Amino acid sequence: MAKKLVYFFGGGKAEGRTEMKQVLGGKGANLAEMTHIGLPVPPGFTIVTEVCDLYYKGGRKWPAGLAEQIDRNIIRLEKVMGQTLGDPRDPLLVSVRSGAAVSMPGMMDTVLNLGLNEQAVQGLIRKTGNERFAWDAYRRFINMYGDVVMGVAHEHFEAEMTRIKEARGVQLDTDLSADDLKQLCRAYMGVYQKHVKKPFPTDPRKQLAGAVNAVITSWNGDRAVKYRQLNHITGLLGTAVNVQTMVFGNMGDTSGTGVCFTRDPASGENVFYGEFLMNAQGEDVVAGIRTPLPIAELDNYLPRCYRELVEIKGRLERHYRDVQDFEFTIQEGTLYILQTRTGKRTAAAAVKIAVDMVAEKLIGKTEAVCRVEPAMLDHLLHPMLAASPGAAAGKVCFTAEEAEHMHERGEPVLLVRHETSPEDIGGMAAARGILTSTGGMTSHAAVVARGMGKTCIAGCGELRINYRNKTVTAGGTTVGEHEWLSIDGTTGEVMLGSVPTVEPTLSGDFATLMKWADGFRTIGVRTNADTPHDAKVARDFGAEGIGLTRTEHMFFEGDRIWAVREMIMAEDEDARRTALAKLMPMQREDFEGIFTAMDGLPVTIRLLDPPLHEFLPQDDATQSEMAERLGVDVEAVRTKVEQQHEMNPMLGFRGCRLSIVYPEIAEMQVRAIMEAACNVKKRGVKVHPEIMVPLIGTAKEIEVLAEAVHRVAKEAIKAKGVRVAYMVGTMIEIPRAALVADRIAETAEFFSFGTNDLTQMTFGYSRDDVGSFVPKYIKQEILSRDPFQALDQEGVGQLVEMAIRKGRATRKDLKVGICGEHGGEPSSVEFCHRVGMNYVSCSPFRVPIARLAAAQAAIADLPPARRRAARKTKGAKKAKKIKKTTKARKAVRKKKPAAKK
Ligand code: ADP
Ligand code: MG
Ligand code: MG
Repeated sequence: MAKKLVYFFGGGKAEGRTEMKQVLGGKGANLAEMTHIGLPVPPGFTIVTEVCDLYYKGGRKWPAGLAEQIDRNIIRLEKVMGQTLGDPRDPLLVSVRSGAAVSMPGMMDTVLNLGLNEQAVQGLIRKTGNERFAWDAYRRFINMYGDVVMGVAHEHFEAEMTRIKEARGVQLDTDLSADDLKQLCRAYMGVYQKHVKKPFPTDPRKQLAGAVNAVITSWNGDRAVKYRQLNHITGLLGTAVNVQTMVFGNMGDTSGTGVCFTRDPASGENVFYGEFLMNAQGEDVVAGIRTPLPIAELDNYLPRCYRELVEIKGRLERHYRDVQDFEFTIQEGTLYILQTRTGKRTAAAAVKIAVDMVAEKLIGKTEAVCRVEPAMLDHLLHPMLAASPGAAAGKVCFTAEEAEHMHERGEPVLLVRHETSPEDIGGMAAARGILTSTGGMTSHAAVVARGMGKTCIAGCGELRINYRNKTVTAGGTTVGEHEWLSIDGTTGEVMLGSVPTVEPTLSGDFATLMKWADGFRTIGVRTNADTPHDAKVARDFGAEGIGLTRTEHMFFEGDRIWAVREMIMAEDEDARRTALAKLMPMQREDFEGIFTAMDGLPVTIRLLDPPLHEFLPQDDATQSEMAERLGVDVEAVRTKVEQQHEMNPMLGFRGCRLSIVYPEIAEMQVRAIMEAACNVKKRGVKVHPEIMVPLIGTAKEIEVLAEAVHRVAKEAIKAKGVRVAYMVGTMIEIPRAALVADRIAETAEFFSFGTNDLTQMTFGYSRDDVGSFVPKYIKQEILSRDPFQALDQEGVGQLVEMAIRKGRATRKDLKVGICGEHGGEPSSVEFCHRVGMNYVSCSPFRVPIARLAAAQAAIADLPPARRRAARKTKGAKKAKKIKKTTKARKAVRKKKPAAKK
């Protein structure tokens, strides 16, 4: 039998289901599902996504069997509807809609009112008795077909519209009469023929073929391609094509159309949320041309429809067990549902909804933890406007282009537009916040912004935007291009300047969700922190220790740099030791602060890592100052600076190499660490120092240095008379270290993957210079992601896996973690979990992200049957039981982070 390429829905039955998104696209799968559960969905059929793929592969031709299958489904549709395409008495009209497996709002094309021609429009008049409506539908169709299918720019049609409005002396489309619209249809036909140079297709089947191809082609349109790039959407076959019976929201005062959310997508509150327009077609709401009314007001216009809509809202949410974003149209008092999908929501809403739905017994804790995308939490973890989350401040830009420009220059951008269109996505991605004067919460701007996690105020009616003068005015105040504005997406306030922000905290629903996440997580989460303040912030966010303290930052503080420079200038060991002795007490004090802040938790401290030249002044003035302070000749300083110069400093005299050549540097640092540990222990602080040697490439290096570390540590312990347990380990950041990890583990008690350097050296990309080519690589899909952001699991990941395997072959209980930037990036955290690391370590603000990503990785590991069981409402309890029986690697989790109130 030929392959099934078309799936029917209608008459209470559907061939597809919601699980078939890959085949039918999200829109098609859900139209089928809604038909199945008895919602009023206009009947139609869906052409599978694979057709899109086959179309391109086959040189822009339909695959075998498609034409026949479409024909058969049209006949079936005509039967269900009791109407026929092109019928001069009662024509069947359809829409042709796109819809991929992953929702791409507004990025692809739709054709409405298909099936009209000179005879059919007469049929429509006869059927509806509404001449004005029929001509309006026809002119919209000619316009859309010309624009979407044949590529005639919309403005050519718009010009005719303007001409006739001026001739009649009217402002609005709705002021035009039936005759005017009829005349407009003639004018539109003229535009069509002039630009296409072929007559308008009158055969509805030809129209349909053209529209199907146009929708398929829009899959590879600029907007769609860019959207997929920005959202890392890959591996899809293409778009499905939905052909669906038209219903009309523009048939008069008992008709309308709208878009709703089952809950407020900005705050997450459980209130019916949405907007509608009376006497309008769907496009009008989404395009943000007329500002719609809040959904509750529908009760005043069509109370029966409103009640039905509220009832359907409840059914949708109970059925899908998640917030739905759905479209409806009312045709002369009859309600139809045209689309539903999982509602995009802000980070704050995602957290609230997940926690609320557990309380409502709609979902279990397992599912709640999986409902929030870890990366989204970022928005809750940055400084925000004092009043509320979801705010943004930036410099005003009036075009998407300018926004992208400014963003490239590293400027914070606030994009201000009348409305946004799908062409603007690049600029929207570049902006911190988006502000529009028309449209509502369901307009393109709002939907896309929410998807991107951007702050957005859509439809701020008081704004007067003047694109020509590049100004925006409200309440008598005018702001020009590149001036600061702040917006608060939650309250809808627009504020002058850059409004002050406060540090975020982990509390309420957010804390609850994180506590649940910790119940599933098996990998530890630590932080990278160099100061007691950062350590404390991270601890409040749930960090279970420090995975990396960089000691070099301490060298720059205050007057210390002069002692460091003195050390570098020193001609012999004695002089070096004298300089280092000045640094010692200061370092010790730093460590005491950090140990105290991390009372009870492990702290990994890395010995000096950067090349020495980074501490020397490069400018004349500071060089002179240095000469004066150290009592040497300025020439000597210059010579020293020149001597320290290296061709490839990242591959030069740095890391453990410094401590091998100048053992006294490491000795001073180890003494400072251990004396600090002893001192705080005397005060009752529980310390677990882990001394980490950077940039090891050979087993001998770590042997030599570990020996020195142990010697100094023992001396310090003896002198202080307190016993402090400590560990000595290494970073694995040079590919060779991964290769000989078994040998290194003979000495090292722990490994910490420095994946920044490891990525740099594995790829051979200087991490400070990737800006010149990596963006291009990503665009051309040579790389799928920037490997410095998301760990390259295919290549670098192999080294990591091998090093862990080899290391543990030598030392069974080898403690393994990661301290590169990747430690807070969700896909990398998942990888670290999978390869059996004990912990990940990341910057303080990413700790909650890592905790959630780690929990999701652990949940994905649950056996499928149990995961299904856990999905039921009481699932979280079961999941906990399972976890106890699996061998969780909890060694590093000495203490559960307390939920902060
Ligand atoms: P998008 O994916 O951009 O939302 P849609 O396929 O949903 O595109 O269509 C765009 C608009 O046209 C929506 O407002 C939708 O409700 C409306 N629409 C699509 N099909 C029909 C139909 N059969 N009857 C009435 N309106 C429709
Ligand atoms: Mg839609
Ligand atoms: Mg490094």
